[in-house]
Amino acid sequence: MNTRMLINGELVEGAATLDVVNPANGKVFATIARADEGQLEEAVAAARAAFPAWSKLTYEERGAMVGKLADALEARKEELAQLLTREQGKPAAQAMGEVIGGIYQLRFYASQRHEPQIIKEDAKSRILEHRTPLGVVAAVTPWNFPFMMVTQKIGPALVTGNTVVAKPAPTTPMCALFIAEEAAKIFPAGVLNVIVDENELGGPLTAHPDIAKVSFTGSTGTGRKVYASGADALKRITLELGGNDAAIVLDDVSPKEIAPKLFNGAMINAGQVCLAIKRVYAPASIYDELCDELAQLAKDAVVDDGANQGAQIGPVQNRMQYEKVLGFLEDARENGTVLAGGDRLDRDGYFIAPTVVKDIPDSARLVREEQFGPVIPVLKYDDIDEVIARANDSEYGLGGTVWSADLDRGVEVAMKIDSGTVWVNKHLDLPFDVPFGGAKQSGIGREGGDEGVSAYTQKHVVNVALS
Ligand code: NAD
Repeated sequence: MNTRMLINGELVEGAATLDVVNPANGKVFATIARADEGQLEEAVAAARAAFPAWSKLTYEERGAMVGKLADALEARKEELAQLLTREQGKPAAQAMGEVIGGIYQLRFYASQRHEPQIIKEDAKSRILEHRTPLGVVAAVTPWNFPFMMVTQKIGPALVTGNTVVAKPAPTTPMCALFIAEEAAKIFPAGVLNVIVDENELGGPLTAHPDIAKVSFTGSTGTGRKVYASGADALKRITLELGGNDAAIVLDDVSPKEIAPKLFNGAMINAGQVCLAIKRVYAPASIYDELCDELAQLAKDAVVDDGANQGAQIGPVQNRMQYEKVLGFLEDARENGTVLAGGDRLDRDGYFIAPTVVKDIPDSARLVREEQFGPVIPVLKYDDIDEVIARANDSEYGLGGTVWSADLDRGVEVAMKIDSGTVWVNKHLDLPFDVPFGGAKQSGIGREGGDEGVSAYTQKHVVNVALS
């Protein structure tokens, strides 16, 4: 288990240390290196110094190194998945899914190319467009997907010729340090740096004058600060932020068939997914039946340490989030009817019983805010236009789902949801070659697909006179 940071090609101890807690028991399982502002400066300076040589390599050369990192991580995937469960809490199968997803993601980015293209040519001129890297990228990530959020950023940043300073969330730094350990053997010094903080270096890193681009995933509140901090230097900024995704169930589905899909979409990773289902809207004709089906699934779900076989739902990742979710439960008890769960589990660690709440008003905190925990409100509707308006009445617009036996009806509703991605009769299908991102205050820019890769470059037009 690597406990050191990666700065200028070396695995280094920190100016300070940080305790990492296993959310399944609340106990410290690792004490690791933590940077101070001096080490942050060293990391940015190393990345800056490495940029000229790295950016001059070809896509093939850089892609080969990113591919080698994917291979090295794959060779240790069991160890990595166990570490992921230990620091983040998710069940083993979900952790392995994240690890494999992150490795495939690196391979996808390793294969990307942005060669110069002729975008216009006539008798008088030839116009070439070239995409050049930006410089040093700050990759700042949250605690819900501590492996995949990092690979999602370092893959495209590195392959396009940028150098990187990555900073994971303080409660889940171990996967990033695991990547650092393998990267130290592959990349030239300074190309990838990984530093750890206690939540105080994200600001200085993203505001640093030598950072050309910030790729940030986290809450909308922090995203606003990152956006503001980039204004002086007009930094390129990608923001992947919070969501409050609605699932709209149409009246032609079977509640029994649809309930497990909704339940999984809401409870995956204990509800700590930006794109998790966070509000379910069901028509009056099937409302009670659907609520009962969801409640039964919540009662039957196995909530346990993700490392234990059979665990379906793990703990909430950290104490602060756990207390926040307990606050949402209080709101649910006061304003709605709790059909299942409704409280914490009486055991060590940050466990909350999967909770289903009905008859709660749209104005309740649990409906308006992002709960980011295993608690789902189910709301009744009478009319399709009314429910579309209610679903769209949010500052967020990240994802959403529509469930119907009639695909045309499903697509018609999906087209009216003001979000970055809306799925019909499925959920969380995120191909790497399809851009993903938020509408409204769920973000700015896209990750994935050609657009996501291009976001780490700028257009450079060369206009040549031919006659
Ligand atoms: P957070 O905003 O608290 O922290 C995210 C990261 O920002 C951490 O690394 C943190 O240390 C750092 N940070 C803290 N203060 C900073 C500052 N002033 N400037 C720069 N960085 C700073 O988010 P979180 O609680 O770790 O993550 C949960 C949130 O992330 C949820 O809202 C979730 O929806 C969102 N999220 C979004 C996506 C997406 O793709 N849209 C994906 C995953 C999570």
